[in-house]
Amino acid sequence: MVLAENVRKSFGQLEVLRGINLQVHRGEVMTLLGPSGSGKTTFIRLINHLETISAGRLTVDGQLVGYREHEGRLHELRESEVAGMRAEIGMVFQRFNLFPHMTALQNIMAAPIGVRREPKSVVRERALSLLERVGMSDKSGAYPGALSGGQQQRVAIARALCMEPKLMLFDEPTSALDPELVGEVLDVMKDLARSGMTMIVVTHEMGFAKEVADSVVFMDNGVVVEAGPPGEVLVNPQHKRTQDFISKVL
Ligand code: ATP
Repeated sequence: MVLAENVRKSFGQLEVLRGINLQVHRGEVMTLLGPSGSGKTTFIRLINHLETISAGRLTVDGQLVGYREHEGRLHELRESEVAGMRAEIGMVFQRFNLFPHMTALQNIMAAPIGVRREPKSVVRERALSLLERVGMSDKSGAYPGALSGGQQQRVAIARALCMEPKLMLFDEPTSALDPELVGEVLDVMKDLARSGMTMIVVTHEMGFAKEVADSVVFMDNGVVVEAGPPGEVLVNPQHKRTQDFISKVL
């Protein structure tokens, strides 16, 4: 589903990703961890073309992200084509980014109606069932300001799911939450993982990684230091940098 081959990214002189090779198959959950500044956020932003890669090759479902290959040359996708590509990839951020002037239900319904031009009644049914799925049925009419951080994040997940994405990207979805609210968001994500969703999750929640991840990737300084099943990388890391990092976050 996602294949990164020698992916590099620089911001001016600063090389943030220095040759990333990773693969996530359909239905798999990959968790990315690593110290601040190691390039995790940049990597997931490349996947839906919020940033452009500087070198290497990045594909989702076999299609180059942001470009089309024609007669051996790369052509940038048009804005509408990029929008179409993004519509299939859900993203959940550290900050919940809900529209403050819309209710939970309206937030969830906005993109399928606005972007995909789906009939309102169809979207409403789907949004209500997603609210139920994330345990928020009783808050459909609430505005974000009246919801806790954990509730807002669950609405944000439902909003991403309402576009029926083939891939979900999470960037530290629980790190801005009060500790007592982390569990309710992780439970929703675990449920999603078990339903077969392909997910890339930047997180330092080791319990989540151990329970549902198929692979754990430890990044440092723009490279993948170590990658493998959680039972290996988290329990018996081979590299000193991984060992040091894990001993600090556990
Ligand atoms: P964190 O856990 O703190 O979010 P991270 O591993 O996600 O860290 P990134 O956010 O990907 O790391 O940042 C990697 C490096 O790239 C940092 O040094 C950051 O300052 C730099 N960087 C990120 N985005 C930009 C940008 N748009 N312009 C310039 N530098 C950037």
